Formats: sequence, C-alpha cells, structure tokens
Amino acid sequence: MMSKENALEICCMRKEGYGPTAIARHLGLPVSTVKGYIYRHFTMRDARCQYCGKIIRVPKHPRPGSILCGYCRERFFWG
Ligand SMILES: [Zn+2]
Repeated sequence: MMSKENALEICCMRKEGYGPTAIARHLGLPVSTVKGYIYRHFTMRDARCQYCGKIIRVPKHPRPGSILCGYCRERFFWG
C-alpha cells in the first residue's frame, strides 16, 4: 500500500528527473509498485498512434517519434 508520503516523494523525484528504479531504491519499495503508481497517476495520457491511429498511452511530454504504438515504433526504428 502506497503511503501519502511515498506518493509525494515519487512525485517530487519524477519532477527532478529520477527514474522508477532510482525512486524505488530510495524509498525501499518494489520497482513494480513505483512504476505502477507513476503509470496510473501522472505520466501517461491517451493519444493516437501517429501512423495507424490506434489508441495508446504516451508520456505527457513525449519525445519526437514516441507517439507510436508498439508495432509502429518497431517499424519506425528498425524498418
Ligand atoms: Zn501504430
């Protein structure tokens, strides 16, 4: 169970640019717990794949080329 303090700390560390693994180590939580929290609460939004239009979850501020579904991303990077 995620405490309020841990949730706040995750939020702060995300803003400072720490990844889930570093945050989990810092808080002594399983990485999967931290990743799940981040995923559910504040880093993802719905978007459509730029190539095929499939609804996917992407970061709020995606890097160029990242608004793609898994299938199209593979094609994008590996041809
Ligand atoms: Zn696609």
